[in-house]
Amino acid sequence: MTHRTMLGMPQPGGPDRSARLIDRFGRVAKDLRVSLTDRCNLRCTYCMPAEGLRWLPTDELLSTSELQRLMRIAVEHLGIEEIRFTGGEPLLRADLTALVGFAAELTPRPRLSLTTNGLGLARKADGLARAGLDRINVSLDSIDPATYATMTRRDRLADVLDGLSAARNAALNPIKINAVLVRGVNDHQAPDLLRYCLAEGYELRIIEQMPLDAGRRWQRSAMVTAEEVLTLLQRRYTLTPDPHPRHHDPAERWLVDGGPGTIGLIASVTRPFCGDCDRVRLTADGMLRNCLFATDETDLRPLLREQDHGGEFADEAIADAWRRSLWNKAAGHGIDHAGFAQPDRPMSAIGG
Ligand code: SAM
Ligand code: SF4
Repeated sequence: MTHRTMLGMPQPGGPDRSARLIDRFGRVAKDLRVSLTDRCNLRCTYCMPAEGLRWLPTDELLSTSELQRLMRIAVEHLGIEEIRFTGGEPLLRADLTALVGFAAELTPRPRLSLTTNGLGLARKADGLARAGLDRINVSLDSIDPATYATMTRRDRLADVLDGLSAARNAALNPIKINAVLVRGVNDHQAPDLLRYCLAEGYELRIIEQMPLDAGRRWQRSAMVTAEEVLTLLQRRYTLTPDPHPRHHDPAERWLVDGGPGTIGLIASVTRPFCGDCDRVRLTADGMLRNCLFATDETDLRPLLREQDHGGEFADEAIADAWRRSLWNKAAGHGIDHAGFAQPDRPMSAIGG
């Protein structure tokens, strides 16, 4: 059951109204993930069922101007330094390039990135880069066409590879590849995927599968752990810890055969990095989520769409609701706790 935080409720010992996005444990959120849609043109087995999901009705989605307003408040009032567009599949949203262009004009200019499955990227990469997109993560679980089709339930590998070439030609840099491994399906292909990424100059990041699938079939015992991936890759490559500081990067990075190529392992489940988390998420229907695994959301749509007594709710009222949401962020995701409950909202409707 997802709870909605009551807006405007006074909270004793709450956040400083003039402050950035800080929580009770002193973490500061600087990285905003904006989900632009819950729809997708792939059906990755670890994310969505074959028949898709019941999509959000269009009138519940934030409009272009509402998204622009929230990004401006995030940057100008709340100190957000990076905006990542995600989904669902963000390339399905017709106003993506316009949103990137708007965000690139904000002061101070945030870093701008995109997480995409890459379908249609070949046509759009250049325009996105011109609008101000800095870097990109493309999800690619296998470079074997048959395995890719099994994983995504669509035979579209060639489109993704074309999209990646277009991203490189558009000088998006770095280009990171996100991969999730499913035991017995693509896990044994991880060394081939790494070889492909090294050859193309892309940075591979392997993410542990999290209990955020719409089908609720995740099982810890079935998950391929980062430790297993490390062992598998070490059979072919020499991996040494990357000496560069990790900062807020969820990936533990390793130099491959002495570098400069690297591999990143995101051990969200077995080695959580919640203590260093600097993220906050906005869903396509205007819900603030202070954690991927939050069961509590703050609905910004009333503040965007309803009138205060004196007119439209002021930007500062929205910023305050945002600060209160962040203030209440939990210390960790709690997957290991006996009472852990998977959130109602699946990954595809939150934005990874
Ligand atoms: N559709 C875009 C894409 O696939 O890149 C953006 C949204 S997708 C939800 C973002 C990332 O989340 C993808 O890299 C995907 O592999 C990852 N993902 C989806 N479900 C996941 C799960 N249950 N555990 C871990 N990562 C997951
Ligand atoms: Fe779509 Fe991304 Fe989920 Fe795959 S991981 S089904 S591409 S939202």
